[in-house]
Amino acid sequence: MHLHDLTIKKYHEGLLNKDFKALEMTQEFFDYIKKEDKKINAYLSLSEKTALEQAEQADLKITKEENVGMLAGVPLAIKDIILVEGLPATAASKILENYVASYDATVIKKLKNAGAVLLGKTNMDEFAMGSSTENSAFKATKNPHDLTRVPGGSSGGSAAAVAANMAVAALGTDTGGSIRQPAAFCGVVGFKPTYGAVSRFGTMAMASSLDQIGPFAKTVEDAAILFKEISGQDKLDSTSADIKYGDEILNPKLEDIKKLTVGIPEEYFVEGMDKEVSKAVDSAIKSIESLGIKTKKISLPHTKYALSDYYIIMPAEVSANLERFDGIRYGTREKSKNLIELYKKNRSAGFGDEAKRRIILGTFVLSSGYYDAYYAKAQKVRSLIKKDFIEAFEKVDVILTPVTPTTAFKIGEKVDDPLSMYLSDIFTIPANLAGLPAISIPVSGITGLPIGFQLMGKPWREVDILGIGQYYQRI
Ligand code: GLN
Repeated sequence: MHLHDLTIKKYHEGLLNKDFKALEMTQEFFDYIKKEDKKINAYLSLSEKTALEQAEQADLKITKEENVGMLAGVPLAIKDIILVEGLPATAASKILENYVASYDATVIKKLKNAGAVLLGKTNMDEFAMGSSTENSAFKATKNPHDLTRVPGGSSGGSAAAVAANMAVAALGTDTGGSIRQPAAFCGVVGFKPTYGAVSRFGTMAMASSLDQIGPFAKTVEDAAILFKEISGQDKLDSTSADIKYGDEILNPKLEDIKKLTVGIPEEYFVEGMDKEVSKAVDSAIKSIESLGIKTKKISLPHTKYALSDYYIIMPAEVSANLERFDGIRYGTREKSKNLIELYKKNRSAGFGDEAKRRIILGTFVLSSGYYDAYYAKAQKVRSLIKKDFIEAFEKVDVILTPVTPTTAFKIGEKVDDPLSMYLSDIFTIPANLAGLPAISIPVSGITGLPIGFQLMGKPWREVDILGIGQYYQRI
């Protein structure tokens, strides 16, 4: 079996049928990564030794005919913002260079318990701030479909690794679109669960009220498999909820799917959007209608405020979360005369421009005299955006939109123009502000660069969007 044919499902079947062993497959992945990743730069670090041990463990269980789950022996890639014991975790920042995680994030514990093989840590925008993976302190990742273009961001390394067959699936984080936007640019599935569905313990916080961990995969079914494994309440994350997802997310019934109504919000089909994107999304809508699903025009009137709202709330939380990094234990340590100067020098040398920009912005909007005008007001606007969705979900079950206004842009095209970079998340940010589950699915049957469409669901109704997505991919 070729690496590019592998899904989680097929890999699992291959192992059980004894078509191959996890150990030989894992070795094949590393051989391929070492060749292919010279061009793409998806990985920041590899964990060959432990991965091969994990693969051997899985093989042993299968030989002994022990019961194994779908992820046993499956090679996965992990975004470098998520802690894996004994492996580097830099969040692509110089301020964490040389930091090696001393414990596993909850999602990693779950993956290890499921017998997964962790190939390595993937590149990203520093502390998940960006939409192109160019804000990494170490290297820029390239889009496997066109090496002159960005893979999207911030989880660009994870998206590129899956798209280039350097992992069967991967984990990323999504605060404003960082799973869905790179998935759309790289032609893979990217899924952000409901806020609280997955424990964030052991994942470095960017903006705590928005962050969620989720999967990248080649199929919606694989994304559902990975999501089911990592979801669930965790006493180490008080925002994680006691919701259990059953097998219906893996095997949705067409009769249930046909009962759903899909809303198409007019505010998401804006001027300035690429014609090829709107054409592709229209074709996805037609395919979904051909399944017997009804669609309906809806309105989400506060959509136009989402981007500016996000760029107040998110930096406020970033400025607080990034306070803990002082560059004293790891990373670049500068020489200085006293403690204050040490902090200043370490943080000046350790953070990149985008991190600094957001720390400054966030500190400003929280400062006395400005708090009410900016931060408090932004929270009110966030409530209005949420209310739009609550009202829309009285009429429809799922909302369908484009993921991004354009296809993958050129490397260097937007990196010096933060505002134009921010605009690439205009369609993904609302789901984070409202805490909704949302998935990016590649539009099938198009030529040229990949394009994704997005399905947003009601809170905790992952089953609806994963269900429609699975039937869309079957036809
Ligand atoms: N691109 C967005 C930003 O820079 C989203 C980032 C994310 O989801 N982590 O804030």
